[in-house]
Amino acid sequence: MKKLADIGLIGLAVMGENLVLNMESKGYTVAVFNRTVEKVDKFMDGRGAGKKFIGARSIEEFVASLERPRKVMLLVKAGKPVDDFIEMVMPHLEPGDIIIDGGNSHFPDTIRRTEYVESKGFLYIGTGVSGGEEGALLGPSMMPGGSPDAWPHVKEIFQAVAAKVEDGSPCCDWVGENGAGHFVKMVHNGIEYGDMQIITEAYQLMKDLLGMSNAEMHEAFKKWNEEELDSYLIEITRDILGYKDENGEETVNYILDTAGQKGTGKWTGISALDLGIPLTLIGESVFARCLSAQKDLRVQASKVINGPKSKFEGDREQFLNDIKMALYGAKIISYAQGYNLMMEAAKEYNWNLNYGGIALMWRGGCIIRSAFLADIKKAFDKNPELPNLLLDPFFKEKVEAAQEGWRRVSATALSNGIPVPAITSALCYFDGFRTERLPANLLQAQRDYFGAHTYERTDKPRGEFFHTNWTGRG
Ligand code: NAP
Repeated sequence: MKKLADIGLIGLAVMGENLVLNMESKGYTVAVFNRTVEKVDKFMDGRGAGKKFIGARSIEEFVASLERPRKVMLLVKAGKPVDDFIEMVMPHLEPGDIIIDGGNSHFPDTIRRTEYVESKGFLYIGTGVSGGEEGALLGPSMMPGGSPDAWPHVKEIFQAVAAKVEDGSPCCDWVGENGAGHFVKMVHNGIEYGDMQIITEAYQLMKDLLGMSNAEMHEAFKKWNEEELDSYLIEITRDILGYKDENGEETVNYILDTAGQKGTGKWTGISALDLGIPLTLIGESVFARCLSAQKDLRVQASKVINGPKSKFEGDREQFLNDIKMALYGAKIISYAQGYNLMMEAAKEYNWNLNYGGIALMWRGGCIIRSAFLADIKKAFDKNPELPNLLLDPFFKEKVEAAQEGWRRVSATALSNGIPVPAITSALCYFDGFRTERLPANLLQAQRDYFGAHTYERTDKPRGEFFHTNWTGRG
């Protein structure tokens, strides 16, 4: 075994353990450390036994075991623990050494930390790591950003451990400066919220409107997973709906309908509001989780507030296909909105994002991996300056073709009182996006009426502002 490690990792929880095992399996020697040092001993005697690991029992020992430039990766709880470890390791580093944060850090923290760590003469990387514990072990999607000079030193290791697509390309490439990697990971998580929400809306329609059994839904998702919706989330939904416990009970039926969240969807929504981007589908997905969490209130309301009794009278086969079209149309909108957000952020934070490359990074290893991302990559390969995914000829055609069924699903859901906020809000965005004249003229008139906010006129050049004395009062 080599005397010095190629890279060191702090944080031997699920993600850290799996990622270092992945690194070791690719031939790298890895030094490991953890705040609770007993976990280092446990790892060295357990999953790490007999492998190319150096178990350190102190920060000094850990740093001393690394080859230069030292690569110190943190996979600890996001927030203060990252700052604490940065402070702990820096006194032991030399100029040019690299600190890497692989946790789910909020991108403004990564912007701040990059500047701070660079000011001390070191290099910094904030990288999104997606794919959960299995991804970390077998090949995650990795989205690194930070100090560009650090990338050549970690590129080989990162790309070796990352997931690969069919042609062998790694789902990991340089994203951009300072917080770009964590920003892209945040948008990934927001899109994950959106993909999950539209699938659950489809489930509710299939269950409550079409009266399908779990076994029937399992078959439908199985079929969809072999078509254009082919994706990890459709695949696991298929499996969940087909799952029975040891007593033959369908577990999904017993799960309490209150969704949890850790905050990355919320961050994506807040960032969209900050940057003025209509990220409606992800926003609705976060709020749908919030509404689900108000369980007691909903139970109370369900007993006193009446709505329509849901009853389906149409062609069931066609409606099931319509649901698939609604899923596909809404998914296109979600990605169009997510990319719109990344484009605006790139302008705001001076990042030179490679949009096709991002689609490739999400193509494998991560929770939102899907065949669909290959089409997004193609769209940006054809036109790297594409301003909105809906303006790409392929997606324009697909979304136009999906709209008939998608509209039927939305109208039927609304008239039957079944809540499908993400599917319907995506359709409203689609209609708004393709509308030349929105009613914002009236809105501007209202603003001018009560607040003298002025307005531009259609018969005058842009940039000239007018005010009307709407009441005639002086
Ligand atoms: P985690 O539960 O988020 O964090 C556990 C690790 O953080 C342990 O090493 C723990 O040390 C350390 N830690 C916790 N509080 C600390 C503190 N105050 N000071 C110093 N160290 C502290 O572990 P995880 O689930 O493996 O996730 C690691 C990172 O990856 C997180 O940022 C997470 O958001 C991100 N992530 C997780 C997943 C996933 O599927 N789990 C997926 C993608 C990204 P001790 O052992 O001493 O407590």
